[in-house]
Amino acid sequence: MLHERKETDELLTPAYGTTYLDSDIPKYQLPEDMLSPYAAYRVVRDELILDGNSRQNLATFCTTFLPDEAKRLMAECIDKNMIDKDEYPQTAEIESRCVNIIADLWHSPTAGQTVGCSTTGSSEAAMLGGMALKWRWRDKMRSQGKPADSPNLVCGPVQICWHKFARYWDIELREVPMDKDRYPMNGEEAVKRCDENTIGVVPTLGLTFTGQYEPVEEISKALDRLEEEKGLDIPIHVDAASGGFLAPFLEPDLRWDFRLKRVKSINASGHKFGLAPLGVGWVIWRDKEDLPSDLVFKVNYLGGEMPTFALNFSRPGGEIIAQYYFFVRLGRQGYTMIQKACREVAVYISEQIGKMGPFSIIYDGSDGIPAVCWRIKEGEDPGFNLFDFADKLHSRGWQVPAYTLPPNCKHLAVQRVLVRHGVSLDLANLLLTDFRRNLEFFEKHPVTTSIRPEEGSGFNHS
Ligand SMILES: *Cc1c(COP(=O)(O)O)cnc(C)c1O
Repeated sequence: MLHERKETDELLTPAYGTTYLDSDIPKYQLPEDMLSPYAAYRVVRDELILDGNSRQNLATFCTTFLPDEAKRLMAECIDKNMIDKDEYPQTAEIESRCVNIIADLWHSPTAGQTVGCSTTGSSEAAMLGGMALKWRWRDKMRSQGKPADSPNLVCGPVQICWHKFARYWDIELREVPMDKDRYPMNGEEAVKRCDENTIGVVPTLGLTFTGQYEPVEEISKALDRLEEEKGLDIPIHVDAASGGFLAPFLEPDLRWDFRLKRVKSINASGHKFGLAPLGVGWVIWRDKEDLPSDLVFKVNYLGGEMPTFALNFSRPGGEIIAQYYFFVRLGRQGYTMIQKACREVAVYISEQIGKMGPFSIIYDGSDGIPAVCWRIKEGEDPGFNLFDFADKLHSRGWQVPAYTLPPNCKHLAVQRVLVRHGVSLDLANLLLTDFRRNLEFFEKHPVTTSIRPEEGSGFNHS
């Protein structure tokens, strides 16, 4: 019998001495019997051991270190539904304060009365920002009596969420491909692809593939020239998933945000360099009129009449509360300290990897995301490829992905580490020691030489 009940007092029985925990639990059907809360907890908890250790996951941009206070707030807010703004008015107030704080951080001319909202992450935020672009473009075309049936969006090598946006909303994505000597999109390449059906240009502040910032100001100026020459007024939405919470602290003079008039909306992931736990992103519009009013719904069935602009309805409030906790706890000073520390560690890692024979650095972490991206030196055959190297690092628990770049640079395999809150210099040195150990290993035991590009597509950049 799978779950034969025993007479023994469960409180006395040692955890792994009960039949509950020495039997196989059905995995794909609802079990017939109950388990004690304790046994069920152990079963689930133990299985999660296989997930590995998130602090060693250097692939992700997302928060993997949380102080106890943030965890406590998350637990205390577990019953708060952020959509019930009438029932939880203070959560709603805190959300709107976060919107004001972020708008101010991004130099909104009207930060106190800006429009914006929280989302589940940058993907939803991008969807909302992109929809506003499409609606505004369509209104403009209709008002001029022109057809509005073939919209396009111009961008560089974007994160997958923009491919989704384009497909879900039936928009042609005009992606400036990477070039051997230029990964980010520039003004010239962006403008070449613009016409009167362009709903907007989306530069990325912190490319997924390399960590570099796209030059928002240069792109904006190129669009200014396009307007002077051809009368096309094309708005910018910045995908600042990572950079939105980095540039304000690390490059306060970099003009990428609402200081540029053409920038109409910006998204960022609170759960990346905003330091909040997983599940929160933000989108902010420059001006009320940049968010078409027919995208905002009013609901009255929660009490009160509340405007909502979001793809989903119910969502936990804890992530928003925790985001606010970090704003209050850290202030400008604290964010600056943490982001600077991340950058210093990234630059250190890049210097060290650069010194290791076979690697050449593509991005050194010094002026974009605190990340490092490298390849095997051109023409070099060290007896392994980056996929082998990633596998070997994984045997010590490190997740340092190898992947190939998007079209035009598909032949090129790269490897990347993300330095986030909690990746200390000490942890970096432990990683680098494993790098050196692996290089010695492969010197003695060379494996393959091809770059195995067909395996590169399996990696998803979270
Ligand atoms: C992570 C990322 C996204 C997607 O954001 P989520 O918060 O994971 O939904 C979009 N764009 C860029 C540039 C990103 O780095």
